[in-house]
Amino acid sequence: MTDLIVTINAGSSSIKFSVYRIAQGQLTQLALGQIDGIGGKAHFAVKKTGGEKTGYDFDQSQGAVDHRVALAAVLDWLESEGDGANVVGVGHRVVHGGPIYSEPVRLDDAVLAKLKSFEPLAPLHQPFNLAGVEAARAAFPGAPQVACFDTAFHRRHTFIADTYALPRAYYDEGVRRYGFHGLSYEFIHRILRHEEPVLARGKVIVAHLGNGASLCAINAGKSVGSTMGFTALDGLPMGTRCGQLDPGVVLYLMEEKNMSAAQITDLLYKNSGLKGMSGISNDVRELEASDAPSAREALDYFVSRVRRNIGGLSAELGGLDCLVLTGGIGENAVNVRRKILENMEWFGIQIDFDANARNERIISEKGSPTVVLILKTDEERMIAAHTAELLDLKKPLVPPLE
Ligand code: AMP
Repeated sequence: MTDLIVTINAGSSSIKFSVYRIAQGQLTQLALGQIDGIGGKAHFAVKKTGGEKTGYDFDQSQGAVDHRVALAAVLDWLESEGDGANVVGVGHRVVHGGPIYSEPVRLDDAVLAKLKSFEPLAPLHQPFNLAGVEAARAAFPGAPQVACFDTAFHRRHTFIADTYALPRAYYDEGVRRYGFHGLSYEFIHRILRHEEPVLARGKVIVAHLGNGASLCAINAGKSVGSTMGFTALDGLPMGTRCGQLDPGVVLYLMEEKNMSAAQITDLLYKNSGLKGMSGISNDVRELEASDAPSAREALDYFVSRVRRNIGGLSAELGGLDCLVLTGGIGENAVNVRRKILENMEWFGIQIDFDANARNERIISEKGSPTVVLILKTDEERMIAAHTAELLDLKKPLVPPLE
């Protein structure tokens, strides 16, 4: 029997899952899958590592597919795979750990109740993350469940880094800059500690640039600032999210345009950012391929906000030893990367543009005061590692900093 760890990232209409074997403290990814169309025309798809892709449409003659049916299908698939599925732990991506959780936590009824109380902080994600937990408890009743939070890595910020300039009562009731993408930042920083231990002890900015985008300032291994705030709307413009916005714009939309909260939510989360500005797409590849001026402007705005925020966070850090770019754009978009990093010699960033064009691991010149790296993030592996570590199945990937 193979001991397995399953990771689950449950959204409103889809669940992403991955399966890892755990043996002698080592994690090996076996498969990555997704159930789409939950509540509608549901489809199951899975790809084994280095192997074939399979999938099927759910038979819905017995009723609609909800999160429970979807995760029961994951268990069925694991069991159909032959040598017996012994799921020893399930790790969940949970967007919000509120002001409390600075580490992953083993889930029980009391923790789950606490996490439900954070639903108003992330209404588009938290309820569905927790529906995934309930469904997994039913599908894998013998396996301990672990919640891994997008906010946890940022929870040791100072009051100054976390507060807004509102009356203190709002901070006390939870209106704070939580910051997100924490699992990605933790993964990247662990890799950095492993591969570049000297840089990892210094002043680092990690730029997670994907469909969601944010920057994190890390000093001696600790997150000290993030461009995201109370929600995942703040900071950089994203694929479909607006990024930093004067709150006066929201008041204007309410008062002059009579827009409801639901309409504004839709505008700011789903129809702004690269998609809204360009009127074409949220996908950087499509914008790069387009001749439309609006496509170029959307990309230029993205670049400008990334540069501005790198500057701001560097000032807070008091210098910058290392900049890491990651996420779909950070790992692949050579031209966007070049525009973010050019003409920054005055700042201490000297880019080797050939290395950038070749997607090398280090893209700064030898001797550049700031070392610039491209590293691939892997949030699923971070969840699997946290789950294994919390359940004492695995030694930490990298020991904690002294
Ligand atoms: P993610 O959310 O991390 O998967 O990142 C998605 C973003 O990465 C999208 O905007 C994609 O257009 C962008 N992306 C992925 N591959 C490339 C590429 N080869 N060149 C430019 N952009 C890319």
